[in-house]
Amino acid sequence: MPNTDDELRRLLSDIQQALTQQKELFGDTLYIGPEPETTKADEEPMPAKKKPATVAEGPDLFGFVPPKEPSVQDQLPSYSNEPWVSATSLAEFESMICNCLKCPLGHTRTKFVFGVGDPNADIVFIGEAPGADEDMQGEPFVGRAGQLLNKILEAIHFKREEVYICNILKCRPPNNRDPQQEEIDTCEPYLWKQLEIIKPKLIVCLGRVAAQTLLRISDSLNDMRGKVHNYRGMKLVVTYHPAALLRNPNWKKPTWEDVQWIRKMYDEMKNPINQG
Ligand code: URA
Repeated sequence: MPNTDDELRRLLSDIQQALTQQKELFGDTLYIGPEPETTKADEEPMPAKKKPATVAEGPDLFGFVPPKEPSVQDQLPSYSNEPWVSATSLAEFESMICNCLKCPLGHTRTKFVFGVGDPNADIVFIGEAPGADEDMQGEPFVGRAGQLLNKILEAIHFKREEVYICNILKCRPPNNRDPQQEEIDTCEPYLWKQLEIIKPKLIVCLGRVAAQTLLRISDSLNDMRGKVHNYRGMKLVVTYHPAALLRNPNWKKPTWEDVQWIRKMYDEMKNPINQG
């Protein structure tokens, strides 16, 4: 309980700020009551309330189970012979690969979309592939889905500049079709190298396609949410793609739950001393 007028004022101001952000992002519905009515979703059924992983479900606080055997990703071809393997900064790495023509998408892109944000970020958000706006501007998540991603980040007190944002594919697939396996196999080593340079504490995968692609599993988005997965030895969590939220606002509530859980996990990773 606040003890002084100042503390009370601060508390009220925090509550006001949180409610304003929630209103901006999620509209007039205040998400504290029972589940809203579900509608038939265009991609997957509306999930029942997802229980985040708990201590009891895993060996660490967030249920992260370190891999016992080499993961599927570890068995993919190594990139050790690539000339860019020596890059030590994102800027250097980008300059080495930005003219890539290794797959047909290189010939149809307008701009190569490398990634944006803090090269030392502890959290990286990964989408699927650039869309039309990203292809024009050379930056990930700048279209409508990107605007919504910015609001989601703000709602959990992240500035776009303090996280890192990128995609699995660096070039736009025609008509925004799903990435094809050859394109993924060609482009994913670029992501590995980005992550090797950034060394994030946590990866957030945006959307079912991106998550299934990275994790090499075919689980539903709802099954992948609320768990801490392993991606090449890093912790990876999954939530809805902002574009999916634009199509189906019913998914905003589970997304809000996911991102609050993610923020908490991030804070506890940054300050393990405060874990109670
Ligand atoms: N969707 C994505 O997956 N990535 C972008 O950069 C934009 C839209």
